[in-house]
Amino acid sequence: MEPVGKRRVDLIGPWRFQVKIPHTRMMWLVGQQVKAFHRASSATNVGNAVAGIVTATIAALSSHFLAAAMIIIAIGYAAGSRQLRARQYVTQPHSKEMDRAELAWILRHGSISGLIWGTANFCMMLSAEGPQLQALMLLLPLTILTGSLATDMVFLAAVRFIILAAIGLCAGLLLRGTPETIVSAFVIVVYALAFLWLAKLSASGFAIRNLRTKEAKEAADTIHLLLNDYEEHSADWLWETDAQKCIVRPSTRFRDAAGRQRVPFVGAPLIDLFEAGHDRDILELLIEKGQSFRDVIVSLIVGDDRKWWSVSGRAICNDQGKLLGMRGVATDVSAAKLAEAKIAHLAQYDGLTDLPNRMLFHETLARALAKHEDQALLAVLYLDLDHFKSINDTLGHAAGDQVLKIAATRINSCLGRHDLVARMGGDEFAILLPEIKQHEAAESVAKAIIHAMAEPIFLDGQQVNTGASIGMTFASEDGNEALDLIKNADMALYHSKQNGRSQFSRFEIGMHQALQARRKIEMDLRVAISRDELELYYQPLVNLKTGETSGYEALLRWNHPEDGMVMPGTFIPVAEETGLIVQLGEWVIRNALMEVARWPDHLSVSVNLSPAQMRSPNLLPTVIHALAASGVPANRLEMEITETVLMQDSEANLTVLHQLRSLGVRIALDDFGTGYSSLNYLRSFPFDKIKIDRCFVDDVDSRDDSRAIIRAVTGLAQSLGMVTTAEGVEREDQLEHLRGEGCTEVQGYYFAKPLPARNVVGRVMEVDAVVPAPTPKRSVSKAA
Ligand code: C2E
Ligand code: CA
Ligand code: CA
Repeated sequence: MEPVGKRRVDLIGPWRFQVKIPHTRMMWLVGQQVKAFHRASSATNVGNAVAGIVTATIAALSSHFLAAAMIIIAIGYAAGSRQLRARQYVTQPHSKEMDRAELAWILRHGSISGLIWGTANFCMMLSAEGPQLQALMLLLPLTILTGSLATDMVFLAAVRFIILAAIGLCAGLLLRGTPETIVSAFVIVVYALAFLWLAKLSASGFAIRNLRTKEAKEAADTIHLLLNDYEEHSADWLWETDAQKCIVRPSTRFRDAAGRQRVPFVGAPLIDLFEAGHDRDILELLIEKGQSFRDVIVSLIVGDDRKWWSVSGRAICNDQGKLLGMRGVATDVSAAKLAEAKIAHLAQYDGLTDLPNRMLFHETLARALAKHEDQALLAVLYLDLDHFKSINDTLGHAAGDQVLKIAATRINSCLGRHDLVARMGGDEFAILLPEIKQHEAAESVAKAIIHAMAEPIFLDGQQVNTGASIGMTFASEDGNEALDLIKNADMALYHSKQNGRSQFSRFEIGMHQALQARRKIEMDLRVAISRDELELYYQPLVNLKTGETSGYEALLRWNHPEDGMVMPGTFIPVAEETGLIVQLGEWVIRNALMEVARWPDHLSVSVNLSPAQMRSPNLLPTVIHALAASGVPANRLEMEITETVLMQDSEANLTVLHQLRSLGVRIALDDFGTGYSSLNYLRSFPFDKIKIDRCFVDDVDSRDDSRAIIRAVTGLAQSLGMVTTAEGVEREDQLEHLRGEGCTEVQGYYFAKPLPARNVVGRVMEVDAVVPAPTPKRSVSKAA
């Protein structure tokens, strides 16, 4: 605000006792005075005309026609000139100079009007008689009062008018010289002083009122400016409502933020901007009660987007505490809200497939169980993709991710509206079927998923084969706790995988024990190597033509401190699953080579290789190192692989096979005829040997088809220059048939069971003794 000045300005009048007018406001106030003066013109003129006519009439009634005429002229002049001046003033542009000139005119007008009325009063007082004089005595002071009121916004004009009009009146009365008139003149003087005092009060009141209004308006303008500035420079915008909670005076910013297409906007309830919901209800209640509030977050639709605003507000009340409306700020917090929502989403959903994650599945399952009724069935399915690891290893993680996404879509397509599929991690998915009629419904879903997942997947034109193994469990038959059901389904899944994958199994209590047993095996196996509990047994491979033992297959045994001799069928699958096989396999290679080093040179050793070992980068170095350490030439080492090795990661595995072969190691295809057997595998790698699986040998003496298969394999092997070994020969007639079909080598209990190493040493010495002159008949007889 301007410094407050105390300067006396003559143009306006002696304000200093009532009002302190800032220097800078002087001319503005003059302008206001002028404006008010002209604005009051019409009303004042009407009043003047009435007073004039009444006075003139009284004068005329007393036959003072001159006075009457003078009064009419005076009124005519005063009213006419003022009216004209007011009209001019309104139509002209205003300036400081004009206001100054206008003020001078008003002062002049006051003097002239005072002079006219003073003269008229003087004449009438001299000439009026009897009742007319009495009436005029009453009326004339009143005309002075009205005149002063009509000019009181300009104090000095009022002063001039009052003094001149009163002088005329008093002079007339004094000249009459009667005691009554002298007293009356004295009373008029007192009146005039009172009128002057009134005029002064009124003029100061006018100035005070105008200055206050001006100040208030300026303050409002400043606030407005500041608010505009605030809006321009901050991310927020201001809002305001009236007592009816409807939007008033919205800023451009507010309109833009709310969406320009919103019609109506001004006058529409503020709360209508926002989307229905709990938060809006809270906001509505607060606005309804006129309570101040901070950072209430509400959503609204702007165009096609959902936005979130943080709204704060406070009540605007009048002095009596009546609610006039509310005012506040709003900020767009959509970005933060979206980020928050994203974090919340990430906490509950899998980033890759966008399926619910383990946590959300668990929560949903727990909720479903809580409201689950016994007569309905609730099923939990646990699913695992077949061969996913090898897809990931050979084609890379990006391809693995694609497969997971496709799997998620395919699984979803097999589910109903109320069912839920979640990614539990890796290639594992869990499915919740919360309301099914009977067990068969869950089985149908499982079958549909297995069927869908059996369809090949094409990634960049490359075909990828996977599949789904599923375990299922039912509440409340198998459990009532979410965790238990998930665990059960997982156990049943394990069972499906063990049974050859791409199938489903229902949970059974026995699975639990089986799993416990496996856990124990895994734990014990981890320390078995260091405790020297593992041992290699050796089973001879016999040449059918010569009857000689050509080598031995190394077969693992585990002398468990509590469980006694554990066969590989029990622990090899566990070792393969846990990856322990890599370590075990290396131990086997080293030990088998150390053992064969003690045997005669013509005997070789066969070692079994698991697919996991093939993937180990350590395989080749281990073989090379063990060969060097034992001093055994590479061609005395044979490695047996199964078809699964060729099915998975075939390219990488073939490379490893070629590397082994280039060292001089011989490669045999084990268990031929089982699994996904295909004669094509025989062409994919130049194997040294094919081992025909025991299942064909078993009934070679009773079934034509087994014989036919053996014949086909031996025929093909012969043409490719490979040895054929028949496994699991137990009877002599089997042997004869195998010989007839062209097998070159045999292995089986008929000759010997797998023997501990110490027995082999004794045996090879004994056999060595007979080797120089073997009779085919004798050497192909039972050896051990
Ligand atoms: P496999 O490689 O097919 O080994 C032959 C299996 O058949 C051996 O069982 C052997 O004892 C058995 N067998 C031999 N002749 C006969 C017979 O006339 N009748 C019957 N019924 N069985 C016979 P084993 O020793 O229990 O080995 C089972 C499987 O464990 C092996 O099958 C092989 O796949 C795996 N295995 C054993 N040792 C190792 C190893 O050191 N590393 C790896 N990766 N796997 C191994
Ligand atoms: Ca084998
Ligand atoms: Ca075999």
